[in-house]
Amino acid sequence: MNDNCTTADCIISGGGPAGIVAGLLLARGGVKVVVLEKHYDFFRDFRGDTIHPSTLRLLDELGLYNEFARIAHRRVTNISLTGDDGQDYILGDLSRLHTAHPFMTIAPQWDFLNLLAKAGEDEPGFDLRMGVEMTSLIWDDDRVVGVRAQTAGGEIELRAPLVVAADGRWSRARDEARLSMRELRSTIDLWWFRVDTQAQLTDSIAPRARGGEEGGNVFVAIPREGHVQMARLIPKGEDALFREQGIESLRKAVAATFPALTDDVEALEMDDVKLLDVRRNEARRWFIDGLLCIGDSAHAMSPLGGVGVNLAVQDGVATARLLAEALRSGYVPTRALRRVQRRRMLTTKAVELLQGGIHRMIEPVVHNGGVLRPPAPIRWLLTTFPALTVVPARILGMGVTAEHAPDFARRQTDQV
Ligand SMILES: Cc1cc2nc3c(=O)[nH]c(=O)nc-3n(C[C@H](O)[C@H](O)[C@H](O)COP(=O)(O)OP(=O)(O)OC[C@H]3O[C@@H](n4cnc5c(N)ncnc54)[C@H](O)[C@@H]3O)c2cc1C
Repeated sequence: MNDNCTTADCIISGGGPAGIVAGLLLARGGVKVVVLEKHYDFFRDFRGDTIHPSTLRLLDELGLYNEFARIAHRRVTNISLTGDDGQDYILGDLSRLHTAHPFMTIAPQWDFLNLLAKAGEDEPGFDLRMGVEMTSLIWDDDRVVGVRAQTAGGEIELRAPLVVAADGRWSRARDEARLSMRELRSTIDLWWFRVDTQAQLTDSIAPRARGGEEGGNVFVAIPREGHVQMARLIPKGEDALFREQGIESLRKAVAATFPALTDDVEALEMDDVKLLDVRRNEARRWFIDGLLCIGDSAHAMSPLGGVGVNLAVQDGVATARLLAEALRSGYVPTRALRRVQRRRMLTTKAVELLQGGIHRMIEPVVHNGGVLRPPAPIRWLLTTFPALTVVPARILGMGVTAEHAPDFARRQTDQV
């Protein structure tokens, strides 16, 4: 071992929601954990910021809810579709959930991550290293035993009985371990941009379509403080084609769909519009000896339903709960990693199924225009038995299996 080598009980590559949550909880469980984040801060606009009831409950259990409530911008109670007839179809009514916080909140992801990272500073075992990029895995035969990483001062090695790959949907660790992916269908991409405005849109995150001449315009608007984060759904691979139509065409489409934004949209420029290549996939196996993938690294979700952050958080909780004891002992059997995947499988599959249904409803409108609304049998079910909207709300908002903070990670509720 050279001088640049650190040892720990666990190394986490990636300081997104999955990595920071797993790191914080493990550290509270007495595990010496190093989290590597390649960026120097958490500030990136191009990220999810819908915090669902499952994560709000976790924050309660961790004693961080009150502090979080101060940074949260808006409460949203419905996941719905708004058709070009202006009618809202509620697909998931979060207010029907039996939980202390039956709504989702919109909070910038960087604030959320900063809050968790700050809580980690109280834990002697929590070692978050910003600006450090994992470059490759270290192997001992077929077992992963650590990582190499690039820092401002040069290359370092870190060794541990377990490496957790929480490095997002383009996971380097997963690719190096050659874990194969199952690709799920998506024929759409997203344009992601913000419109500065004081206008108050609805308290629902609803894909919204505008038919007629402007047919095929489907948007999702996420209200934040002082601006609206917008996604325009476009046919997959047609970014260049849409850009050729120019910014005026986008401005008109936004104004036609959200009349309240007509004046504000004039400030929008094409350079502000970022492309999100929508991927839906899942690793067939989330682990090999010495390595476990969680969050987007194990399963990239569609942004529709705003669930990615929350699944990543739940994966982090399950990882800490199921592996802390083994990590403290210094040996993590591969069957323990399998248990994490099994535990998280049901919720992952249920979300994939639900999002598949939402994609099937929306994609034809994105491609061909027409009316955005659920198929007739689902409309009938939702309007005749509105209580059924609790089912999608439960799957998206809480998950199928409830991931609670283990006792060792719980703290008294913080004071405001
Ligand atoms: C435009 C956009 C909008 C979205 N909207 C929503 C939404 O509204 N709601 C929602 O819930 N989800 C949304 N998502 C998805 C959500 O952001 C992700 O599902 C979630 O962030 C996944 O968390 P994660 O921790 O698994 O991965 P990530 O958040 O991707 O975090 C991975 C981290 O690893 C770091 N990293 C990567 N490689 C390395 C390396 N080699 N070494 C060190 N660090 C590394 C990255 O810098 C990053 O910080 C959106 C995603 C995008 C791109």
